[in-house]
Amino acid sequence: MSNVIEVRDIVKTYQMGAVEVHALRGVSFDIQKGEVVAIMGPSGSGKTTLMNMLGCLDRPTSGDYHLDGELVSSLTDDQLAVIRNRKVGFVFQSFNLLSRVSSLANVELPLRYAGVREGRRNLAREALEAVGLGDRVTHRPTELSGGQQQRVAVARAIINNPSIIMADEPTGNLDSKVGQEIMDLLLSLNKKRGTTLIIVTHDPTISAQTERVIRLIDGHLDEESNGSKPKPRTNPVKRKPAKTSPERSRRTRKDVGKGSES
Ligand code: ADP
Ligand code: MG
Repeated sequence: MSNVIEVRDIVKTYQMGAVEVHALRGVSFDIQKGEVVAIMGPSGSGKTTLMNMLGCLDRPTSGDYHLDGELVSSLTDDQLAVIRNRKVGFVFQSFNLLSRVSSLANVELPLRYAGVREGRRNLAREALEAVGLGDRVTHRPTELSGGQQQRVAVARAIINNPSIIMADEPTGNLDSKVGQEIMDLLLSLNKKRGTTLIIVTHDPTISAQTERVIRLIDGHLDEESNGSKPKPRTNPVKRKPAKTSPERSRRTRKDVGKGSES
């Protein structure tokens, strides 16, 4: 399997007046195409900084980042924006939808930014159907439940067929049942489309469902989960028997394509 992400000696230092804040202190790892990875760590350990880097929202101070074989760590802001739009889908804790427009218009947005002129509505409709919201296309976010809003955000994240989906605490604003439905949806999209899924989370019930955990402590990768293939002995989080587990396929079949709150 090939690596979709290769990170080498990534350092990020923020300059706060005279003070340097060392958010990432030399981080290296690979993520393979189709992997499901959780990024965990205490508050202030550098998770958001790392996610911004991986999602091409920001550049490292030093170090190399290859996304899909392309060195993106030294691109200009404009070049980075193009890559981001093509290759990254984002899902945020607070959904980040435009409140005044329909689900369709929200989901279409990345296509607009990408300069796609034709067929946007249909693609957006398909994406909404894929997340079980085919019957909510004209609703605005305020007319939807939290779980449904996050489904719209997931539809928006997959509309460009991204190489990676970056989800920052995607279940953080949802109760545990609805949160699990969103997790099931993300896992099923990973399974169906092979989209690499990277989830920043504090929630051990979420990270227990991923194949791998990258743990940050004070800007360092915890050596326990360092490297592209952490050994079971040194990886504190149990790996599920992976994608063929009956447990997961059962949930997947049940939940995909259904808005269970509708
Ligand atoms: P986490 O997401 O794990 O809570 P962050 O990546 O947000 O951690 O932050 C890592 C460290 O970098 C923290 O000490 C934080 O205060 C600092 N930091 C984050 N963003 C900035 C910024 N824009 N300017 C200055 N310091 C920052
Ligand atoms: Mg954070």
